[in-house]
Amino acid sequence: MPLLVMKFGGTSVADLARIRNAAEKVKREVERGYDVIVIVSAMSGRTNELVGWVEQTSPLFDAREYDAVVSSGENVTAGLMALTLQEMEIPARSWQGWQVPVMTTSAHSAARIEDIPRANIDAKFAEGMRVAVVAGFQGVSPEGRITTLGRGGSDTTAVAFAAAFDAERCDIYTDVDGVYTTDPRIEDKARKLDKIAFEEMLELASLGAKVLQTRSVELAMRYKVRLRVLSSFEENTENSGTLVCDEEEIMEQNAVSGVAYSRDEAKMTLISVADRPGIAAAIFGPLAEAGVNVDMIVQNISEEGRTDMTFSCPVNQVARAEDALKKAKAAGEINYHGLVADTDVAKVSVVGIGMRSHAGVANRMFDALAREGINIKVITTSEIKISVLIDRKYMELAVQALHDAFGLENAAG
Ligand code: ASP
Ligand code: MG
Repeated sequence: MPLLVMKFGGTSVADLARIRNAAEKVKREVERGYDVIVIVSAMSGRTNELVGWVEQTSPLFDAREYDAVVSSGENVTAGLMALTLQEMEIPARSWQGWQVPVMTTSAHSAARIEDIPRANIDAKFAEGMRVAVVAGFQGVSPEGRITTLGRGGSDTTAVAFAAAFDAERCDIYTDVDGVYTTDPRIEDKARKLDKIAFEEMLELASLGAKVLQTRSVELAMRYKVRLRVLSSFEENTENSGTLVCDEEEIMEQNAVSGVAYSRDEAKMTLISVADRPGIAAAIFGPLAEAGVNVDMIVQNISEEGRTDMTFSCPVNQVARAEDALKKAKAAGEINYHGLVADTDVAKVSVVGIGMRSHAGVANRMFDALAREGINIKVITTSEIKISVLIDRKYMELAVQALHDAFGLENAAG
């Protein structure tokens, strides 16, 4: 029988009525002839509550026990979903990660899925089970301990099951009806995309679009899992939502598909560091060791053997970055005359695989920002993305100006 994976996020299983609503959607697919693997998140808010309990009990918690606690929210929804389906006379049962087993690395709270052997679930499908309800976000380590996959990880569970079971598609049910050209709360002309390429979605997810966990998009891209994002609060048809797919499936390619932003950025500048071989390694090595996620980097032209080095990182890592750099300076590994942190910046990016074939995208972006009088502090580019760092107070304006400049409100989807 053809198989579908259907994943329901926290808001889609927030209470018993919503679980019933989700179960109705599963029932419809079973009636269409699919076997279904349902992946569930915890009820919305539950994981945060569990994390809070752990932190209150033990500030420097044992990560294995953290996982034992925070994985439990999904166990509840998996069991309730299976019961709800049984009440609808659909042969269903629940599976916790370890029962499948979802085999992961031992990196507690950030484990990676290594393997999902099919035998146990396949045997039940062969006996007539139509729906396997699997608790998302969790697995089991080689040591036999419960692991979790990082916040938002049930998206990754869903894609991994779709790959392991050769699912026809992986449907991600959530509280929005798809992926938009930009955040509709900032630009009311934002438009839902019918299709988006894996690579574009990967950029958008890592730039902070919260619809899908970045890792899940990476996996979908690697295993070519067709991924659909759609609303669990609407009546859906074949064409609902946004299909995340291979770029070959997308006919019309606009230069830019979406505008993304991140508010939580900071810009740090090391003033007057010696411009010598190894200086970048001496600066960014300690930052990496301190767990600072450096994003953009600019090295200025040097004068008399000295230069300024600027980089961006998440605003909540500024203190950690300063600490690491001061220690490196005290240890004589680097030398600089000043360290300046600008914590009032935001990053705005345009993303699109069409950039590969359209010339002048950067220029159009800079023109649009110039027309609004927005100063650009740092620029970085990749093959399918251009990002700029600007003053945070202009972020909304920049998003709107770029959405307009690239004609996203009426682009063919
Ligand atoms: N419940 C987990 C979280 O809130 C996993 C998920 O929902 O994807 O992060
Ligand atoms: Mg999520």
